[in-house]
Order: sequence, then C-alpha cells, then structure tokens
Amino acid sequence: MKMQSQYIFGTICSIDLFEDGTEELYAGLFERLNQIERKFSVNIADSELSFVNSNASEGPVVVSREFFDVLKFSVDFAEKSGGAFNPALGSIIGLWGIGTEHQRIPEKQEIEEAKKHCDYRNIILNEADDICSVMLADEKLRLDLGAIVKGYAADELVKLLKENGVTKAIINLGGNIYAFGSKSNNPDDKWNIGIKNPLKYDAEPIVVLEVNSTSVVTSGNYERFFIENGVRYHHIIDSKTGFPAETGLASVTVINESSTLCDAMATACFVAGTDAEFIKNEAVPGKIQLIFITQDGKIVKK
Ligand code: FAD
Ligand code: MG
Repeated sequence: MKMQSQYIFGTICSIDLFEDGTEELYAGLFERLNQIERKFSVNIADSELSFVNSNASEGPVVVSREFFDVLKFSVDFAEKSGGAFNPALGSIIGLWGIGTEHQRIPEKQEIEEAKKHCDYRNIILNEADDICSVMLADEKLRLDLGAIVKGYAADELVKLLKENGVTKAIINLGGNIYAFGSKSNNPDDKWNIGIKNPLKYDAEPIVVLEVNSTSVVTSGNYERFFIENGVRYHHIIDSKTGFPAETGLASVTVINESSTLCDAMATACFVAGTDAEFIKNEAVPGKIQLIFITQDGKIVKK
C-alpha cells in the first residue's frame, strides 16, 4: 500500500512503508500514534497529561511508566538547556493560544503572573518499587509536552518498524521526520530530505540533506503564528520573557537517530540561539548535527 496519512497531534502525520506497507501494519502504526495523542494531549480532557495538570498539585499522582519516562527526559533536558526547553510552560502557552481560535497578545501583567508558574523544578518526579508518580509543587503550573511528543512518537514507530522487520520507511509527523533504513540495498543511496525555506514558503528547499536511518526535526517561526501591527507572534516561547523567542532565527533543524532528542533540541536551540553555551555540550560533533536558518537567510551549520 502506498503512503498513508492521518490528522493526529493537530497536524498531518504520514507514513510510507514502500513495499512492506500492508493495511494491517499501517493500522497498527496509526493506532500507536493515536494512543500517544490520547495520553499526552493538552487538548483531550481525559488524557493522562490533563489528569496530571488538574490533580498533581494536590499531591503525587501515579502515572504510567511511559508518561513518567517522557516527562523525566523533558525535565532533564530542561536542566541541560538552562530552561530554553521547558515542559512547564503550559500557563503561558495557554495565554497566547497561538494556533487556536483564541490566540491574542496577552496583557503585560497576565504574562508576568503566568511566568511565575513556569519553573520546571516544581515538577517533582518519584519512582519507587516500580511505581511512578508526579507532583506539581505549584498549583498554577501546567505541563505542555508539545515540543517533544512528536519526536517521541516517531521513535515509538521506529521500534514497531524494527519489530515487524520493515526495511525502509519515511515517517513525517508534521515536519518531524524519520528516514528509516536505507533507500536501497546500496548504502550509498541516501534519502533526500529537504529543509523548507522559512523565508519563502513555496520556494525550493533551502538545504537538501542526504541521510540514512536518522531523524530530521525542524522548529520554526513560520508555521504557527499570527501577525499584529506588523509583528510576528509565533508559538515557541522564551520562559525568560514570556514572549515568542526572538533570537534572529527563522528555523533550527536537528539531525540525530533519536527523534525525541531532536525535537527537544530543536525547540531549545530556537529559544537559546546559535551561540548558546549548552549547544557546545549537547551538540556532539559528528553525532548531532544542527542547521540554523537566520531571519536574513543565512545558513549556520554546527
Ligand atoms: P516545537 O518547537 O517542537 O514545539 C513548540 C510547541 O511546544 C508549542 O506549540 C508549545 O506547545 C510548546 N512550547 C513552546 N515553547 C516551548 C519551550 N520553550 N519549551 C518547551 N515547549 C515549548 N495542535 C492543534 O492545533 N490541535 C491539537 O489538538 C493538537 N494536539 C496535540 C497533541 C499532542 C500530543 C501533541 C504533541 C501536539 C498537539 N498539537 C495540536 C500540536 C502542538 O500544539 C504544537 O503545535 C506542536 O506540537 C508544535 O510542534 P513543532 O514541531 O511545530 O514545534
Ligand atoms: Mg520540538
């Protein structure tokens, strides 16, 4: 069966399994994506994430191992990136509502108030005798894992592809790409993955990568935004200001075999900018590749 797509995570998710694509396999992969959305969505009232947001400030709540592991990775990565990636930004993200019907520029005092409730160190994780729990030590703190869960989902699909003996696939979860396996038996025959030109939407890709068995994830200011009085307000928020991050970047692409890491890293780099200190520690040369596109069209590779 040829490439299949479904609308999940508020975006188009496509999977191409080429000659391995059976109806049953596609169904299993999309079911996995739907399961992940039902667990991690802020927009689904009975998701595990919504349950934690509503209840964990009153005391620890028991969570699934899966939820715990993704949140733990997120809190650890927040620490590593000096808060540039921050899973505790739900209150501010809710105020701006970017990409929703109620998107608006919040009042200054609303932002100042919400900013007080975005400290990821108030996410208290506990693991004992295989029971995992989460507590929020701030009753107004709200989790939002929108910057990492598509990456996690891509990695989960890759596990299923391996279990099912699939040899090659292209996964695209709203710009979060996994190029799985090699394009052909010849290992020199690489997948071509284009990075969109963030400055000219309909133009040719600004960079074309040749890759095998890796994820390619881009965070940018050009897909979810609104413009008011000539100013672009996009969806990647800097915890320090409570405003959309302004570091002169239009997009950041991260290339590594862990799509979870790529997703978190792309968001963090967009917030922190090209010269951030943590990038020197995290961007292991030859292992994690970064491509920054600046608002004036320069391409910076690290
Ligand atoms: P990324 O840079 O990877 O992530 C940006 C998103 O992360 C922001 O939208 C915000 O949610 C959050 N964020 C902002 N700043 C930071 C920061 N500094 N640190 C950490 N996180 C930050 N969209 C819909 O329109 N409708 C839906 O029903 C919907 N459901 C979703 C369910 C799930 C489980 C997920 C993962 C996403 C869903 N989305 C939905 C999309 C979501 O709102 C984001 O737009 C999307 O995840 C952003 O991904 P990105 O790759 O563009 O940007
Ligand atoms: Mg991200």
